[in-house]
Amino acid sequence: MDAIGAALSENQQRVKELRQLLQKASYAYYVLDSPIMEDSVYDQLYHELLALETDFPELITPDSPTQRVGEKPASQFHSVRHNIPLYSLENAFDSADLVKWQERWRRVAPDIHEFEYVCELKIDGSALALTYENGLLVRGVTRGDGITGEDITQNVKTIRSIPLRLELDDPPPTVEVRGEAFLPLSSFETINQEREQAGEPPFANPRNAAAGTLRQLDSRIVAKRKLDFFAYTLHIPVGGSRQSAVSEGEVQLDLLSNSADVESEHIPVPNARYPIPQTQWECLELLQDMGFKVNPERSLCSNLEEVQEYCNRWLTERHNLPYMTDGVVIKLNSLALQEQLGFTQKFPRWAIALKYPAEEAPTVVEKIRVNVGRTGAVTPLAEMRPVQLAGTTVSRATLHNRDRIAELDIREGDTVIVRKAGEIIPEVVRVLYELRPPGTQPFEMPAHCPECGQPLVKPEDEAVTRCINASCPAILRKGLEHWASRQAMDIEGLGEKWVVQLVDNGLVRAIADLYDLTIEQLLTLERMGQKSAQNLVEAIENSKSQPWSRVLYGLGIRHVGSVNAQTLAEQFPSVEALAQASIEDIAAVYGIGNEIARSVHEWFQNPANQALINRLQTAGLKLAGEVSPVRDSGNAPVNQPLSGKTFVITGTLPTLKREEAKALIQAAGGKVTESVSKKTSYLVVGEEAGSKLEKARALGIPQLTEAELIQLLNASGD
Ligand code: NAD
Repeated sequence: MDAIGAALSENQQRVKELRQLLQKASYAYYVLDSPIMEDSVYDQLYHELLALETDFPELITPDSPTQRVGEKPASQFHSVRHNIPLYSLENAFDSADLVKWQERWRRVAPDIHEFEYVCELKIDGSALALTYENGLLVRGVTRGDGITGEDITQNVKTIRSIPLRLELDDPPPTVEVRGEAFLPLSSFETINQEREQAGEPPFANPRNAAAGTLRQLDSRIVAKRKLDFFAYTLHIPVGGSRQSAVSEGEVQLDLLSNSADVESEHIPVPNARYPIPQTQWECLELLQDMGFKVNPERSLCSNLEEVQEYCNRWLTERHNLPYMTDGVVIKLNSLALQEQLGFTQKFPRWAIALKYPAEEAPTVVEKIRVNVGRTGAVTPLAEMRPVQLAGTTVSRATLHNRDRIAELDIREGDTVIVRKAGEIIPEVVRVLYELRPPGTQPFEMPAHCPECGQPLVKPEDEAVTRCINASCPAILRKGLEHWASRQAMDIEGLGEKWVVQLVDNGLVRAIADLYDLTIEQLLTLERMGQKSAQNLVEAIENSKSQPWSRVLYGLGIRHVGSVNAQTLAEQFPSVEALAQASIEDIAAVYGIGNEIARSVHEWFQNPANQALINRLQTAGLKLAGEVSPVRDSGNAPVNQPLSGKTFVITGTLPTLKREEAKALIQAAGGKVTESVSKKTSYLVVGEEAGSKLEKARALGIPQLTEAELIQLLNASGD
């Protein structure tokens, strides 16, 4: 077999696999209104198939999902042929795609030098084609496969924002209006609550809920569901002949069944008493005047830069809208130019949909390994084939703990869906079991620490597995990094690079060893120069002057973040006082709960930790006295303890889901934002924290553990 033949047969299997999967997904999506995968996943699989078919055209079959406009409508309604096919839109995923699209249409219309674009939000609902005759709504049809849709006129009439009569004094004989029927997010939530109470499965998303609702046989149910509608396309065909087709009693309106008719659709109706639109913008205005709801967030742009600005703005602002959008539709404004450009087999050449970057994508798990954190928590991680998600390349995702792994039944070799919404760390949301290769094995959490070989423990009441060996090199490395961090001892230059070598070379076996390091010893490290060694020794020496509260924080005692360390250091003026305190004494401190008290007490009972304290004392560190101000002493109102404070959350919190933590902060008057800036008051840090932690460290932003956050919140009730 030659090289081309080999590639062909290798890809044949994949093409077959993709087709089967896409067909199954399409059926679930279009016919059952119950998708089995996220749109972005569908789009990526679809594009993989398209790319393979482009490279190997001999693999194209007439039934390939790439060869169709839409899906066949379900059969419960009367089928109606569309007067003008409802085309799909070409997809763009970034600005390069938009540039290519502009180049493409300009090649078709090289004489056009002045043009404008209309940007509209791409409403995530279900397209409808509405026919008005002499101003009256006579028919509402779903998109169906683009050629034939379902007549759902009765249901359409229940949508309050669709006028039954056009507000025009002299309406043209026939008008076709297209737009998106959608469910506002609030109605979507209510419907799903009702469905769950009735024991019915909830709708996967507002779009499927809208499509499913429109195809309800009982229009009383549709009326209750509060569907809404944004109009975005207006066709005003030439009067006369078209009306006669209807008066002859035909079921289908044969208005504009070929492209020649499409070209004639903007010929003004003689003696019309309304302005005949020449542009998409004017169409939208006329639709509004006719009594339709037109999305107010539209924008007229004179070049692609302005289009891009609009898209960038809505990428984040869309989250504040009361309905779902899945991108931006960009259309050439001039209707004459639209006519000149026409359609390809599937799309208009004059419009494109920029889809928001995928927050979910399929990829393959190459390896599952575990990572040991500073507190000894052992977190399983999936190492994956790199994939583009929300603008970044993702190749690792946390699998949280053994319960989550069991729940997912994730295995090496599996195709999975990973999600990364905004700046949230990537996580595996689902396994595509259909694509599991033969011979995979369930993943077992190791019984021993991969770093030190000691047995791992999993307390009954916790989901987390831990390494409890205090001298485990992984715990030591993370502990040293924490000790050196800006919020703790602030030892400049002592980053991960040197910490790894210091531990691996056996130069540091406990934090206190740092204070015995000599320049000569440091010079034995790979790539360490005289100057750097000197600076590091000096920085370590300088850290001895850090106050007691920071030393306490630096020790990395579980649940003792910077705020708790501050509180404890204020109440216990020396390490001796704290070490001798009982759990009750510690828990009696305002803002310190039992769990923290127990953790601190246990820490001081451990002989290895006592030895560490002795050595730190001998080395001359401050283990008593003055404390550094960490907390903001703003005048927060008593009942809103977090008002005026801005929080950012990073990593996986031990018990709270991110949304729960966010809700608690907001309920206490605080604000939660996505990115760390100088204005951030606190960074709430969980396991596997990402780049936000680095940024917060660089800016000196105080950090909170989940327990500390809860302390802070509890203080509100006092
Ligand atoms: P599309 O949804 O990408 O774009 C065309 C549609 O956009 C129009 O029909 C219209 O309904 C809508 N739209 C919203 N606002 C608009 C506006 N202002 N102007 C014009 N149109 C507007 O294309 P499509 O062919 O309808 O559907 C294909 C898409 O469906 C895929 O890209 C995929 O995301 C999704 N799909 C998902 C699955 C799944 O399993 N999740 C299966 C099949 C298809």
